[in-house]
Amino acid sequence: MEKISNYINGQWIAPVSGAYLDNVNPATGTVYSLIPDSDNRDVQLAVDAAKAAFENWSGLLPEKRHAVLARLADLIDRDADALSLAESIDQGKPVKLAKSMDIYRAGANIRFYATAAMHMASEAHASGNEAVNYTLRTPVGVAGCISPWNLPLYLFTWKIAPALAVGCTVVAKPSELTPMTAYLFTRLCREAGLPDGVLNVVQGLGPKVGQAIVDHPDIPAISFTGGTVTGKKITSSAGPMLKKLSLELGGKNPNIVFADADFEKAVSTSISSSFTNQGEICLCGSRILVEQSIYDRFVAEFVRQTRELVVGDPLDERTRIGALVSEGHLRKVLGYIDLAIQEGGKILTGGRQVTIPGRCEKGYFVEPTVITGLNQQCRTNQEEIFGPVVTIQPFESEEEAIRMANATTYGLSATLWTSHLTRAHRVSAKLKSGIIWVNCWLYRDLRTPFGGTRQSGVGREGGWEAMRFFTEAKNVCIRL
Ligand code: NAD
Repeated sequence: MEKISNYINGQWIAPVSGAYLDNVNPATGTVYSLIPDSDNRDVQLAVDAAKAAFENWSGLLPEKRHAVLARLADLIDRDADALSLAESIDQGKPVKLAKSMDIYRAGANIRFYATAAMHMASEAHASGNEAVNYTLRTPVGVAGCISPWNLPLYLFTWKIAPALAVGCTVVAKPSELTPMTAYLFTRLCREAGLPDGVLNVVQGLGPKVGQAIVDHPDIPAISFTGGTVTGKKITSSAGPMLKKLSLELGGKNPNIVFADADFEKAVSTSISSSFTNQGEICLCGSRILVEQSIYDRFVAEFVRQTRELVVGDPLDERTRIGALVSEGHLRKVLGYIDLAIQEGGKILTGGRQVTIPGRCEKGYFVEPTVITGLNQQCRTNQEEIFGPVVTIQPFESEEEAIRMANATTYGLSATLWTSHLTRAHRVSAKLKSGIIWVNCWLYRDLRTPFGGTRQSGVGREGGWEAMRFFTEAKNVCIRL
């Protein structure tokens, strides 16, 4: 059985403990590889390597860092098929989606920051004839990057790329549920010529490896994507150490459909925004709010299209809904469906675990599920389920739609369907979300700031925001 290694100082090495954890293929429910059960000793080795590599990497001309990162992006594209297969087996998502979304975007992330490395500029301010001030941005040092399981290589690269581009060295930890693509990625780093110690990947459990990264005194900046509960835990450790923190956390995103929207587009994109990646995308719209006058028509068409989604083997090209990431997550999602029924919800379609005959018989599959009849205050509409489960509710007016949309403690993303230009601007301004998509979903321009408000996180990633996060700004004032 394949044993995944840590990648420290350019070497693939076993964890100091010598212990390994099972890595399960969620589509078959079987262990298919082993992952290092690392601890603070492995993190210490990684920090030592990252510190040793820092001076050279941060001192390179930006075009040299660009050249290595650009090669790395090309290698991801070259190996897209193998990486997509690995991502699908690790996470349960359809292989087709792994290729078009995760692996495509992993290459795009690295390429974007490879070029940004050459274009990042700083500011200068002339104070009349008296002084010149300029801002010197220097890499913060060793960056800690911790990523989740839902978009494994996509989010792993999204974190490490800006850090590497500005000249930080990195200690990174992918999720213990999806370690494989980050491991394969380290092979590409070597091939691309990334110097030893610049990227170090320590695999293992959150409370052991993740916490050791957060607590390490020589890691001054932590970029984290994951659940809100974990984000708060990280804050309670890193806050008193005055570390820089970027937290991308959970969501419970509204998807608002006005009667004047392009109906066909609103329905078909809402199917994607509800169920892509089994609903395991932080940006999925899990609360659909529909204007009363088109409510019945919308629900009927939405349910019809939901029933057409093929739940099945992630390796089958026809599959739209693959396996949930783990047995624990399957139980959690099914538990929320039970809760919705207890809270008075009506299941219009779905609601059950699915058994796929053949090699996926023991996999963790759930039908895409549509629920109506719940208010916004119930737990089903307040808590992040992170599965193929959506609720639909009618609204009477623009004010009511805004009130319902803002009725949770989260604030990650919102989607708005309307052909009314001024309404699009007006409602967008009133939604408490970090990203608002109008007549589209998941469209991303990597230059734009990305992140949530309220319980969905603090800080912004993307574009210059992420690069600035990994730097210290120093003002130099020269009196003339
Ligand atoms: P999680 O919080 O359980 O784990 C995320 C990462 O943190 C993993 O690598 C985990 O091992 C690690 N971790 C766990 N405990 C830790 C600790 N004490 N210290 C340091 N690291 C620790 O989240 P998950 O279940 O892997 O991912 C799903 C969550 O991520 C959902 O809530 C989803 O909304 C969120 N998410 C948010 C975004 C975003 O951009 N806002 C994107 C993707 C996922």
